[in-house]
Amino acid sequence: PTFEAAGFPEQVNKVLKSLKFEKPTPIQAQGWPMATSGRDMVGIASTGSGKTLAFALPAIMHINSKAPLKRGDGPVVLVLAPTRELAVQIQNECSKFGQSCGIRSTCIYGGASKGPQEQALRKGVHICIATPGRLIDMLESRVTNLKRVSYLVLDEADRMLDMGFEPQIRKIIDQISKDRQTLMFSATWPTSVRQLARNYLNDYIQVTV
Ligand code: AMP
Repeated sequence: PTFEAAGFPEQVNKVLKSLKFEKPTPIQAQGWPMATSGRDMVGIASTGSGKTLAFALPAIMHINSKAPLKRGDGPVVLVLAPTRELAVQIQNECSKFGQSCGIRSTCIYGGASKGPQEQALRKGVHICIATPGRLIDMLESRVTNLKRVSYLVLDEADRMLDMGFEPQIRKIIDQISKDRQTLMFSATWPTSVRQLARNYLNDYIQVTV
């Protein structure tokens, strides 16, 4: 498999080249065709597998197919992550690849002051990467909304459940249109994670690496 086969925009291929990545990792090679064709997907993959780009590059293609962003618009892509550290890592990858396509992303997490996060959201972003608690805060204070979300990613789903985020996840997903694409990544596949997939994904493909 090659990067070109995935059909990403030229700007994305340029960044891949500049990073000297040789070829897609297994989760990317198997996941990209599913994700770019609009299917729901579960990826059983750990950190280090290349899972972030497995969902982030199809997210960029998804955004490119949507109407341009207006000031104050809520995100089109929402990524839920268990921790600030993971959210920041995802944001770094999203901005590395999204910037050259004019895609704006921001990171929302607890344990830091709200002001700068609110400002970034109010300007309007295509991609929001968030930990569940702080996102609910922002939704309740109407800093942003999830009306435009049509590509949802639950990253490290097993860890989010272990940390007790299930009620928050439910509250967030209840505000998102059912007419969306949902991707879920998890290092493990216990009953609790299967249940989450059954509840929130639609006719999904599972990729295990
Ligand atoms: P992740 O599993 O998403 O945390 O990614 C782990 C690391 O692998 C990150 O530093 C990525 O930038 C890098 N990476 C992602 N995809 C590839 C690839 N196809 N070839 C080489 N490195 C990659």
